[in-house]
Amino acid sequence: MSINCPSCNSARVTARNHARKIGGAAGAVGGAATGAASAAAGAQSGAALGAVAGPIGAALGGLAGAILGGLAGGAVGSLAGARMGEEIDAHVLDNFECHACGHIFSLDQ
Ligand SMILES: [Zn+2]
Repeated sequence: MSINCPSCNSARVTARNHARKIGGAAGAVGGAATGAASAAAGAQSGAALGAVAGPIGAALGGLAGAILGGLAGGAVGSLAGARMGEEIDAHVLDNFECHACGHIFSLDQ
């Protein structure tokens, strides 16, 4: 994708993607929190499965279930947050910066 600065017509333009980065981080935190809830469920089912192998199996199964639940939640949340941030970058914020003259602009102009 080639974008030229509307002010000086330079091609030295980069996307800032502030909202995308913030969205990804916020989404990861929110997702991990959601993941923590599903981690509890994962821990329960993991413990139930592990219980077949005795108390140690139940503990290990619970741990594995909790870790998987937390990781999955964080990954999904991060993805969703980044996508939401991309939308904000594209439509709300001035997302492009010219390195020749410092002009900041959005594509909608
Ligand atoms: Zn420029």
